[in-house]
Amino acid sequence: MSGELSGEWWTWTDAWMFIGVFVGLRIAFIWMATQAIVALIPEGDVCVTCGEETLPLVHEGGWHLLGHRFHRRFCLSCSWEGVARTASTRHAKRPPKEPPRPHKSRSGRQPAPR
Ligand SMILES: [Zn+2]
Repeated sequence: MSGELSGEWWTWTDAWMFIGVFVGLRIAFIWMATQAIVALIPEGDVCVTCGEETLPLVHEGGWHLLGHRFHRRFCLSCSWEGVARTASTRHAKRPPKEPPRPHKSRSGRQPAPR
């Protein structure tokens, strides 16, 4: 009877691993969905339909909850109205590159093979 499993076909380790994977997948899915939605939102202050400059609208309702990056805009030329992102400066917020560290030198001299 030593190799027999004791009733339960799962262990808490398996359960926590499953929960971890499940939660991780959910977070990844939500993150990807957010990225897709953000990518769909036009960037900058140019109209997506006619290319003219759009005017920012006063924040109403819960739009300000999305943050200052998103705002409603209105086009005077074609009366387009929608959400746009503020043009983000992608190159500005890049962390400074650290100089490559010298590889850890081997301590002591290795005897040369003869
Ligand atoms: Zn327009």
